[in-house]
Amino acid sequence: MLVASTFRWKIPGRDVRVNSKSSGTHTMAKGISALADRYTVHDGRKFRLSRYDTREGRKWDKGDAKALLQQSTEKLAELQEKLYAQDRWGVLLIFQAMDAAGKDSAIKHVMSGINPQGCQVYSFKAPSSEELDHDFLWRTSRALPERGRIGIFNRSYYEETLVVRVHPELLAKEKLPSGLVSKRIWKERYEDINAFERYLARNGFVIRKIFLHVSKREQRKRFLERLERPEKNWKFAVADLAERARWREYMDAYEDTIRATAAAHAPWVVVPADDKSFARLVVASAVIEAMKGLRLAFPAVDDAQRRELGRVRRILERE
Ligand code: ATP
Ligand code: MG
Repeated sequence: MLVASTFRWKIPGRDVRVNSKSSGTHTMAKGISALADRYTVHDGRKFRLSRYDTREGRKWDKGDAKALLQQSTEKLAELQEKLYAQDRWGVLLIFQAMDAAGKDSAIKHVMSGINPQGCQVYSFKAPSSEELDHDFLWRTSRALPERGRIGIFNRSYYEETLVVRVHPELLAKEKLPSGLVSKRIWKERYEDINAFERYLARNGFVIRKIFLHVSKREQRKRFLERLERPEKNWKFAVADLAERARWREYMDAYEDTIRATAAAHAPWVVVPADDKSFARLVVASAVIEAMKGLRLAFPAVDDAQRRELGRVRRILERE
């Protein structure tokens, strides 16, 4: 249920007001789905990561963020129910980020109200030897969502142009015939990813690629928390420090990847992730915006079906 109130927040270039007094989640959802606009990249040609501030949302009132997140969760649940019932479209959400950017918790929070039967989450770690025996899209293709469902990739084939690009020794492990590995390899990977995503889109799968954009400074803070708090110790991996040391290279790889693979049918959402509540809200907003565009509706019952339902109902009532 909605509390009568007006949420406002100012972000550069946009003043978003969400007046939730009038008609419940409907009014709210309008404002919410507009929030992700500013962070969505449909055409990467002029993309510059430095233009995106990781700290937007710092001044955001935590209580407001939580209330809006709660409402957007309800909206998402409603959209997902229709997606499932209609069984035509599928949704693929790809999460990419540096360590401790909040991928796991964003997935957990945004999807918290959703029926587990309509949602699948896959986490991709360093490839196994079986996976290395296949082409690089193989393991993710096997995990794609069915129609009617939301599939979440916690990391994805994008690792190929991120961690593998930063660590060429990982490419060497992929057993590609040497004649096929040239300086053009990354450009070719982008082409293959673009073709794959276009193919999915043409088959009714809606794609949103979510980059949780955290600052190096905020990562340090979160790593220290993981070390200080016993219940968070397990999350800290010594190897994460080595990746942190190559921050600049990773950011260049992200920028290049987003430039080459942002498309109208598969946009990137560059989420300011230094503030967790705000980040979750932007993610929820992007998912709602994507699903609203599908004009989802419960399948209509035709006259013959309605007569049949009437007949069954009479039988049951006579019992
Ligand atoms: P957590 O938040 O728990 O640390 P995580 O997603 O970082 O979650 P880890 O098991 O720590 O999970 O890390 C998975 C590792 O696998 C990452 O370092 C990632 O870069 C690496 N990885 C994923 N895909 C590939 C790939 N195709 N090639 C090489 N390494 C990969
Ligand atoms: Mg990790």
